[in-house]
Amino acid sequence: MDATVAVRSVADVGPDTVAVTLDSPAGFDARPGQFVKLTATVDGAAESRFYTVSSPDTDGEFETTVGLDGGDFSAHLAELNPGEEIEMSGPFGDEYYENEARAVVLAGGPGIGPAVAIAEAALAAGNEAAVVYRDDAPAHAERLDAARDQGARVVVTDGDVDDAVADAITGTDGERAFVYGFADFVDAAVTALDAAGYEDDAKVENFG
Ligand SMILES: Cc1cc2nc3c(=O)[nH]c(=O)nc-3n(C[C@H](O)[C@H](O)[C@H](O)COP(=O)(O)OP(=O)(O)OC[C@H]3O[C@@H](n4cnc5c(N)ncnc54)[C@H](O)[C@@H]3O)c2cc1C
Repeated sequence: MDATVAVRSVADVGPDTVAVTLDSPAGFDARPGQFVKLTATVDGAAESRFYTVSSPDTDGEFETTVGLDGGDFSAHLAELNPGEEIEMSGPFGDEYYENEARAVVLAGGPGIGPAVAIAEAALAAGNEAAVVYRDDAPAHAERLDAARDQGARVVVTDGDVDDAVADAITGTDGERAFVYGFADFVDAAVTALDAAGYEDDAKVENFG
């Protein structure tokens, strides 16, 4: 669907990372791991970028988590004020949480958005969750701590993910791996899953 939606809030959720919460248009239903296209006028030109849902549901409102690393579009999102409007379309993507019994989410950089959303959705459904998160300046610490308190296995590292992935993969029935992040992280995560002996198809969303 295409819609014009209002910004509800923009909040810092870690170093160079903001959570942008938007009104959900009527009938909008996205699962954690799906993404939307946001379009805005930046420096006089219409620009679009994709952002993954980082709230466990989209009832009334939904959140995306935006990494800030010098780009103009992400900087524009971080400067939005409540009540301002933005164009969105979506949801898009097939690599989302479908109530799997155990979600093992591997996240790099802004991939932490879908990771916390999937962990929260899994725990709320009585399922298991594990998160392996690579970032040298981690975000969403509070939500990761809360997930850990509810029984999720959470590992945050600024280095190699191989050992953490091997520990997170249990081989139990209903286990599914998810990977979200930019291409260099996706490559490292898929290599780590192979090394850990993970044989199913992981759900992988490459941010570019
Ligand atoms: C399916 C999909 C889902 C996405 N979901 C998210 C999301 O949930 N949150 C989010 O922040 N971004 C997400 N992205 C990336 C997002 O669409 C933008 O590319 C990003 O915000 C940078 O846009 P920009 O115009 O601000 O910066 P640009 O000028 O395009 O790039 C500036 C910065 O973006 C980062 N970047 C861009 N490309 C790469 C790359 N290949 N490897 C590493 N870093 C890179 C770097 O930090 C870089 O300095 C997603 C992309 C896709 C395709």
